[in-house]
Amino acid sequence: MLIINCHLISPDIDMHSCAICIEGSKIKSIYSAGSTLPNDEHIIDAKGQMVMPGFIDVHCHGKVGFDFTDGTQEAMDTFGKSKLTEGVTTLLPTTLTLPEETLAKAMHTAAMYVKNNTKGSKLAGVHLEGPFINCKLCGAQNPDFVRAPNIDEVKRLHSIFPVSKVSFAPEVDGGIEFSRQLRELGITPSCVHSAATFAEFSEAYTNGLRDLSHFCNQMTALHHRDIGLVGAGFMHKDVYLEAICDCLHLSPDMVKLIFKLKSIDRIQLITDAMCAAGLKDGDYQIGGLPVIVKGGAARLKSNDALAGSTLELNQALKNVQEITNLPLKELVKTTSWNQACSLGLDKLGKLEAGFYADIVILDYNFEIVSTIVDGELRYSQNGFT
Ligand code: FE
Repeated sequence: MLIINCHLISPDIDMHSCAICIEGSKIKSIYSAGSTLPNDEHIIDAKGQMVMPGFIDVHCHGKVGFDFTDGTQEAMDTFGKSKLTEGVTTLLPTTLTLPEETLAKAMHTAAMYVKNNTKGSKLAGVHLEGPFINCKLCGAQNPDFVRAPNIDEVKRLHSIFPVSKVSFAPEVDGGIEFSRQLRELGITPSCVHSAATFAEFSEAYTNGLRDLSHFCNQMTALHHRDIGLVGAGFMHKDVYLEAICDCLHLSPDMVKLIFKLKSIDRIQLITDAMCAAGLKDGDYQIGGLPVIVKGGAARLKSNDALAGSTLELNQALKNVQEITNLPLKELVKTTSWNQACSLGLDKLGKLEAGFYADIVILDYNFEIVSTIVDGELRYSQNGFT
C-alpha cells in the first residue's frame, strides 16, 4: 500500500507532499517530496491532509452505549471498532471498581476480541482502574467494591488477558509494596483516586511508580504545606501524566500550566470516555451508578461528580492545539509516542520505517478521514471496511 500526498506529522517531523510505503503490517519507507515513488496497486491519496501515527488511548471505559465491563462480546467488539472513528489504533480498555468476577468476564471478552482478530483498534492489554483505590476519592467509582491492593487478584486477571496498567492509591495498606510487585510483573503502576501526601507518593516513586492517571482529577491538590500529587506530577520530571483535555476535567488554564511546566515527553492525552461517548445527551450508567449527560458533561446523578468524559481523542488534540498553540510535531507526542514509551510498546507511535503501519489521516478541522491499523484500512469516512 502506498499513501501519497501526505502532510506527515510525527514526533519532531512535519513534512508536506510525502508518501508512505507500507509492506504487510509495517512501514517500509517514507518518501520525501519530489522522490520517485514505487508502483503500487493499492494507493490512498491523502490529498495533502494531515497524516499522523495512530492514536493510543490508554484510559477509556467505553463508547456508543457500551462499557467494557458490561462483559458481553458485543460490548467489547462495538467499543473496539468505534474507537477507529476517532483515530485510535491502539486501545487499553479500562475497567471500573467492580467485583472480581465482573472484571474477569470483561477480560474474557478482550481475549476473544484478539482471538477472533476483530477489525477494530488493537488492544495493548487492559488498564485496571481500581478497585484498589482510596474510598475518600472515589469520584464516580462505586465505593461498595473498593478493596485493598491484592497482587494475586491482578495475577488471576492477568492470566485471562494481559493487564498493562493498574491505577491505584499507593497510600492504602500494602500500596507501596503493590507498586513494586506490579513492576515485577511488567505492569505499569499508576496513581489515582488517591489521597496520598507528597511524601507517600515519593516512597511509591522509589518503588517504581512513575505515572499519574487523569492528572489533577481525584487526587490531592497542590497545597503550600503539602504539594500533594499535583505537586508530585510537577516535581518529578520523569513522571508521566494522563490528561483529559475536554475543558471540563482540566480548565484551559490548567492545560496551559501543565504544558508549560512539564516536558512534552511526559504528557499523555486520554479520553477517559464512558459509554455515552459518541451518543447524545441523556440518561446513562457507569458501574451500575446512574449518570446524566448534559452538554457533553457526564455527571453522577447522586453527587454531581464527573463520571468520565464523552471526549474523543481527535477532539482532545484539537482542544490542546487551540489552547497551547504548540506545533503539531510536538503535540503528536502526547497522542501516541509517550503512551508507547510509558507502556514499553515496541514500534508504535511514530511514522518511520520499521514501525507498525498504524496511521490516521485527518482534515485540518481534526475530523478523521481514514484509520489504518497494521497496514489495513479499517475505517474511512464511508464507514468501516
Ligand atoms: Fe477515574
